[in-house]
Amino acid sequence: MPGTIDLMTRTLPEEAQDDLQSRGYSRRDMARLATVFGVGAMAASVGRPAWASGGVPDPAPTAKTRIGANECWTGPLMPGRVAAQMMVEHGNRYSPKDERGDFIKAVMAVEGVPYDHVAPWPGSSDPLSRAVVSYCSPTRGLVTADPTFELAGRTAEWVGAPVKRVPLTRDFRHDVKAMLAADPNAGLYYICTPNNPTGTITPLEDIEWLIAHKPEGSMVLVDEAYTHFAGVPVASSFAVKYKDVIVMRTFSKIFGMAGLRMGFIMTQPANIAKMMRYDGGMQSGALPLPSLACATASLTAATLIAQRKAEMEAARGYTLDHLKKRGLTVVPTNANMIMIDWKTKPAKDVQAAFRTQSVEIGRSWPIWPTVSRITVGSMEDMQNFAIALDKVWTA
Ligand code: PLP
Repeated sequence: MPGTIDLMTRTLPEEAQDDLQSRGYSRRDMARLATVFGVGAMAASVGRPAWASGGVPDPAPTAKTRIGANECWTGPLMPGRVAAQMMVEHGNRYSPKDERGDFIKAVMAVEGVPYDHVAPWPGSSDPLSRAVVSYCSPTRGLVTADPTFELAGRTAEWVGAPVKRVPLTRDFRHDVKAMLAADPNAGLYYICTPNNPTGTITPLEDIEWLIAHKPEGSMVLVDEAYTHFAGVPVASSFAVKYKDVIVMRTFSKIFGMAGLRMGFIMTQPANIAKMMRYDGGMQSGALPLPSLACATASLTAATLIAQRKAEMEAARGYTLDHLKKRGLTVVPTNANMIMIDWKTKPAKDVQAAFRTQSVEIGRSWPIWPTVSRITVGSMEDMQNFAIALDKVWTA
């Protein structure tokens, strides 16, 4: 029905539609493109955008031990909880003082980037999908690793941009040379470090090589969702030094704020403007104040972040020891997730077996069908996992 399509295309501003059409999208694509924006609220845990599931969210797992979705095992850091609660009292005001500005100043202090290089978002799924729409098109594709977090690839497929998935190197880095060779004229190269699901790091030198060799007009998106669990050098300075790099963070992981929805990108101001053009800047106005206050107070809590990382490492060490005793091999991880190889057993079947023990483990990726991702939870979660493993694993 042409009338319906017309109604939907009006949700994208004229300027955005002109830009999309100049990059090879057709008018018919507009309604589909419009559905990509605002995915942040529902997309997160399974990497499946709400619009790709027909608008029906997956039910939350009811298992006693939930180590399937790369969430944190506990809620926000204490200063964040206090700040969020205090903000509720001022919830009658749109902005009691400059909370958005305070958040950006906290990012400036921690990451060393200028004020106008920071854009907060309710989570990072929205900017991730939006980066795909902003820089990819039917003629300029997306290159990702395989396996990696699927949202960029799924968004590209949804909007009709070609996707190249490039296997990780043998030591589980992104193979940046092969990624460039796979599509030397891509619109966006997506690097996830530590990588979801392997937890492995792609060194900054590899990323800088890609930035130096990629074609003019394409972008490199560095997704550092899990970086605080790894404690390795971060890519923030690239967002200032280079005009075509976006560095992305979320508060859904070590900060324990997946349901509170906060994230941000760091990149040069022209890129922020480009990514915002689809909704006239409304995203920045849409941040709930308790989430903003929680994130601001959490970001600078260096000692508590380090303590949480150490807690994860203790639970991860315990789990790795147990897996080793059971003769299972894993990918050498630097983050809060472990890829376990069940040898000949399909990962889906193992996941179903764990469900009988009220333990929800993570999914597998098509490239490695016998490998499951498990998220490192609390020590108690991992003890429950080990008990369940001893019951379900007989090989
Ligand atoms: N990036 C990576 C690598 C992720 O694993 C996730 C969620 O699991 C996200 C981004 C999106 O998270 P959120 O929208 O909660 O910020």
